Amino acid sequence: MNLLRASGIRRTYGSLQVLKGIDLEVKTGEVVAIVGPSGAGKSTFLHILGTLDRPDEGEVLIEGVNVFTQKDKDLAKFRNEKIGFIFQFHNLLAEFTALENACMPGYINDSGNEKEITSRGKELLDMLGLSGRMDHLPSQLSGGEQQRVAVARALFNRPSIVLADEPSGNLDSHNALDLHQLFFKLRDEFGQTFVIVTHNEELAEMADRRLVMQDGIMLP
Ligand code: ADP
Ligand code: MG
Repeated sequence: MNLLRASGIRRTYGSLQVLKGIDLEVKTGEVVAIVGPSGAGKSTFLHILGTLDRPDEGEVLIEGVNVFTQKDKDLAKFRNEKIGFIFQFHNLLAEFTALENACMPGYINDSGNEKEITSRGKELLDMLGLSGRMDHLPSQLSGGEQQRVAVARALFNRPSIVLADEPSGNLDSHNALDLHQLFFKLRDEFGQTFVIVTHNEELAEMADRRLVMQDGIMLP
């Protein structure tokens, strides 16, 4: 079954046509890589898949839900529960510890009590090899560790899909490979589904599918 189906996605900024009608279907447990030159529209497309931006035309279904027909409040809840995000620059909150950052989607959710939230955060950081770093601030972590905290945060609510935009773009090759292997481990062990925009050919080759975007279209 398709976990995600995007069809006919178009997006313009003023007179600039950034997305010219894009279709994408992703199955549960698939790892899909999207590559392509800078300016191709990859980030714009990923933001639309993640409901952070709305298309001018086209629709996105996730688990059968036509996401943009939801009211803003419902859409925000849907996004928090169903979609995990990992960005190139981790976007961790500087004032908060690794554990607090990992737990952020739990706090936003306001379901579940403090104890459950903390225990879920610890479980994830343990799994990601960060047991000894829970109380560190982002500035006290290496780039690879920061990105693993971002992965923990993305996984917190057991999302249906994780969307990653150049997740290893800021890492050295060793940490990049570690991160990529982590994605496949999460897929193999938990059936986690990923759509990953990347310039890293090694990662794109490891993926189940390597799609190429160019000039606002997905190449056949
Ligand atoms: P990629 O991620 O493939 O490098 P982007 O999706 O970031 O490409 O951008 C595609 C094009 O859309 C670029 O020409 C960019 O300048 C333009 N663009 C992206 N976001 C905006 C925006 N908010 N306003 C105007 N133009 C934008
Ligand atoms: Mg981009």
